[in-house]
Amino acid sequence: ASLGAPEPGIIVSRFGQHAVVANEQDQTFRCHIRRSIETLVCGDEVVWRRLTAQTEQTEQGVIEAVQPRHSLLSRPDYYDGLKPVAANIDQILIISSVLPAFSAQIIDRYLVACEDIDITPVIVLNKADLLETLAADAVDEIEQTLTMYEAIGYQVLRVSAKTLGGLDAIQSLLQQQVSIVVGQSGVGKSSLVNALLPEIETEVGDVSAGSGLGQHTTTVATRYPLPQGGYLIDSPGIREFALWHLDENRVAWCFKDFRPFLGRCKFRDCKHLPQDPGCALQEAVESGDLHALRLYNFHKIIESMASTKPSRAIPR
Ligand code: GDP
Ligand code: ZN
Repeated sequence: ASLGAPEPGIIVSRFGQHAVVANEQDQTFRCHIRRSIETLVCGDEVVWRRLTAQTEQTEQGVIEAVQPRHSLLSRPDYYDGLKPVAANIDQILIISSVLPAFSAQIIDRYLVACEDIDITPVIVLNKADLLETLAADAVDEIEQTLTMYEAIGYQVLRVSAKTLGGLDAIQSLLQQQVSIVVGQSGVGKSSLVNALLPEIETEVGDVSAGSGLGQHTTTVATRYPLPQGGYLIDSPGIREFALWHLDENRVAWCFKDFRPFLGRCKFRDCKHLPQDPGCALQEAVESGDLHALRLYNFHKIIESMASTKPSRAIPR
């Protein structure tokens, strides 16, 4: 088969030695990946060529090169270390909710993971419609925590995937950006994605019908064009992305409000615990320059990392 001129494209989804590539008009093409390309993930910018004569495998093109990435999301794999899953993401929507109970500690875990890979996080409180069912002090606690995140410099949005209140703010945030949603089970990620991508089922069907790759579409990271512009990359694996490969100093740095105080403790190996003398972080909490909740969550995260780190000694 003969090849057309090189064209720019973006990976919609990848399956072994094949991938679905989108051109600038969001038309999709099933392509073979040249063996010389080492890693290729959803969101990668590529150079590809159309096959002008159709092959038996119904391939429509060949991917010849991948461009440098501006960001990369990897997942810690139990056996293989870090596995890249999606490239060139601009922002991560950390979905939290009123029920299951709002948890600043879980938000902080995702914030650390976002800071580590230098992708902008946005905190989204979903199920805002349920706020009125909570006691006043429970609502106050949530509002104070959200205000804390705003003071640290994170954007916070309140939304209800049920009433669709606040959805317009999320839609304008997503325009011109490549975004993903993350968050614990039950917070409403599927409901939000369905609200943002009303065509998602037919889109998946269209891509798989055109590519003959239907059986993989629910588990593989996929890039969906949003009706009002921008893209959402989604897959079950991406929604669960987390840390657990970071060392303690890196986690502390990923609490971005800690940064002015790091390196200022009396002892270089300071654990930043209450009994540590001359701890700059403890002093900052006492003087009101740092939120006690953040330092508390930092310690909880360090503790849980020590106990959940995967052991490489376990055989396959
Ligand atoms: P996921 O596990 O994060 O994907 O969460 P789902 O989207 O499956 O939602 C979990 C449950 O919460 C479902 O029963 C949804 O109907 C419900 N839910 C999702 N969003 C909202 C919301 O904004 N308000 C209320 N009241 N319920 C919601
Ligand atoms: Zn310290």
